[in-house]
Amino acid sequence: MTQPHVEVYTKDNCSYCEKAKDLLDSKGVEYEEYNVSGDDDLFGEMVERANGRKTAPEIFVDDELIGGCDDLYELEEAGDLDPKLGLDPAATDGGVEEHRRMIIAGSGIAGMTAAIYAGRSNNDPLVIEGDEPGGQLTLTTDVANYPGFPEGIGGPELITRMREQAQQFGAEFENGIIESVDADCRPFHVHMTNGDLYTADAVIAASGASARTLGVPGEDELMGYGLSTCATCDGAFFRDEDMLVVGGGDAAMEEAHFLTKFADTVYIAHRRDEFRAEDHWIDRIMEKQSEGDVEIMWNTELAEIHGSPEDGVENVTLLRHPEGHPKDKQEDPEFADEVEEFDHDVGAVFYAIGHTPNTGYLEGTDVEMDADGYLKVQGGFGGGQTQTDVEGIFGAGDVVDYHYQQAITAGGMGSKAAIDADEWLENEADLAAVEGEAEPAASEADD
Ligand code: NDP
Repeated sequence: MTQPHVEVYTKDNCSYCEKAKDLLDSKGVEYEEYNVSGDDDLFGEMVERANGRKTAPEIFVDDELIGGCDDLYELEEAGDLDPKLGLDPAATDGGVEEHRRMIIAGSGIAGMTAAIYAGRSNNDPLVIEGDEPGGQLTLTTDVANYPGFPEGIGGPELITRMREQAQQFGAEFENGIIESVDADCRPFHVHMTNGDLYTADAVIAASGASARTLGVPGEDELMGYGLSTCATCDGAFFRDEDMLVVGGGDAAMEEAHFLTKFADTVYIAHRRDEFRAEDHWIDRIMEKQSEGDVEIMWNTELAEIHGSPEDGVENVTLLRHPEGHPKDKQEDPEFADEVEEFDHDVGAVFYAIGHTPNTGYLEGTDVEMDADGYLKVQGGFGGGQTQTDVEGIFGAGDVVDYHYQQAITAGGMGSKAAIDADEWLENEADLAAVEGEAEPAASEADD
């Protein structure tokens, strides 16, 4: 099969661009890369070829628009990417079957730290990178609270360094997505979406969490056309526009602060009258407010986004109630009349309303989860704190922790999971050795 002409439009500091390139690289596909950062003509060309989408990456195969990173991964999951790229599906599909002592699901900070520890204890870890290689840290511009970096460090740089450190200790990385884990058999069967199968003695689930969305009208149509869950990725595309950030946590503050570099005014819509973010971030946002770069819309929720893929986001419908949570109030006959509904012009909308844990591949196992999909682990004191209900499967980072959710706490939990898994594997090996010794004795007794 001949390889088609593959083109990828990228921009600086774009984790989704790196993720898309990683997938193409993992398949050995050659492509032309055009970086649109600071090049208005090239950016205009990308937007025109991508039918008005203002988000990088944009990928083309033989001039056909594939779309962004998610579209590329969707094709891969459906098994349609290889034929499009001129690859022989028989050579790449469903062929691999390999055993590993330890598989780590996820390559964010929890997975990377687990990989460093597991590599050092000779557990031969294979890290399955998942659909957000590097995890959420790759979407963060500046990590100012990670101990050891008084001057701060960029999220992508921190995660790259961790990866190098893990590789130095023998960890290997595989670009792919886990579809399911069969925990009824030993070793565990780890099924990949591309049909590959790994078996593993122990599994560490460190697959993090993905950005939440609101499900409001206009969302599906405008995602990528002015609506985004990543300000650091897409903010620069909406220079001089008014922008809306939804949320009141650290991520909303960080994104709003970052967007002031490009926006005319950044509006923050928060459903209550108090932010949950750290004082550090609130202070920075209040400073931007006093400078006129930020306007805060308290007790306000997003109800609808208006626009079109051709023209992008044009305006939004918002709800406001003086006591907060206007959407709930609107549905309550007692308060419905008090809810104010109004339209507001903005050229871009950024969601920063938290994340949902990526634990779907463990459904169907006996690993217990709460109603939101967070894994329940043993916790408490002493060893085994990261053990799930299935012996040999451990949880670390944002798949477990809905409270602290810090880079340092995810890393800490990753190290605990690797230590717990190592101790468990050692115990299993000791038990197997004892049983092995006991068996001949029993047969001798029979003689
Ligand atoms: P959070 O869960 O902390 O905040 C989510 C925000 O979105 C809350 O203000 C919440 O409102 C709001 N929200 C949630 N659902 C809805 C909805 N349906 N409609 C409207 N608003 C909604 O998530 P973050 O992503 O901000 O942070 C996650 C973790 O990551 C935190 O531990 C945070 O500290 C950390 N982080 C740290 C950073 C740093 O620089 N140190 C940067 C980014 C994140 P409400 O408050 O009313 O619940």
